[in-house]
Amino acid sequence: LFAGEVEFLKGVVAMDGLPPADRPEICFAGRSNVGKSSLINALTGRKALARASNTPGRTQEINFFTLAESHYLVDLPGYGYAEAPLPKVQAWQRLLKAYLAGRPNLRRAFVLIDSRHGAKPVDEEIMQLLDSAAVTFQAVMTKADKVKAADREKSLETTRAVLAKHPAAFPEIVLTSSEKGDGLEVLRAIIAQMS
Ligand code: GDP
Repeated sequence: LFAGEVEFLKGVVAMDGLPPADRPEICFAGRSNVGKSSLINALTGRKALARASNTPGRTQEINFFTLAESHYLVDLPGYGYAEAPLPKVQAWQRLLKAYLAGRPNLRRAFVLIDSRHGAKPVDEEIMQLLDSAAVTFQAVMTKADKVKAADREKSLETTRAVLAKHPAAFPEIVLTSSEKGDGLEVLRAIIAQMS
C-alpha cells in the first residue's frame, strides 16, 4: 500500500475542492510541531511528501495523497497556533467541521499527541469535533524516542484518561517515533486494513 506508490494529489481550501469520495480515507490531525509531517514522511518512506512545520501565516490546506490509488491519506493543517489571526482560525474551523461531518469515506482520524506532553486541551477540541462528526479516531503518540519510559507512561496515562471521555475514541494508542521507526508498521497495517 505504501512503498513507492504514494502521490500528492491536491491541496484543498474549500469543500467543493474535495476529490470524489470514492475510496477509503484516513486523516492525520495534530497540534503544530507535534511531528505530523515527519510521521507522514516516515510512513510513506518519502522525504518531502508532507512539508515540515506549516508556518502560521500560510494558507491552511487539507492535503490529499493517494496510496496505491486505493486509499486517500489526508494531512490536516496543524492546529494550536496562538498567533494565527482569528478570522483565519474561524475559516479553518468551518472547513474542518464541514470536512469531518461530510466525508462518508473517512474511516478513521489519527490524532497525533506528543509523547512528552500527553493530550492537551487543544487536542480535546479536535476530539470533540470528531465525536460530533462521529468519526472514529485513534491517538498516535509521536517522538517516543524523546522520552524516558516513566515519562512515557505518564503521558500515556493522561491520554488514556482523556480518550475515555470521548465516545468516538478508539481505545488503543499507537506509540511512534519517526526518528527510530517505532510504530510505523503498526500504523501501516491499521491503514491497510481499512476498506
Ligand atoms: P509538524 O509541525 O507536526 O509537521 O512537525 P514536524 O514533523 O515538522 O516536526 C517538528 C519537530 O519535531 C522537527 O524538528 C522534527 O525533526 C521533530 N521530530 C518529529 N518527529 C520526531 C521523532 O519521532 N523523534 C524526534 N526525536 N524528533 C522528531
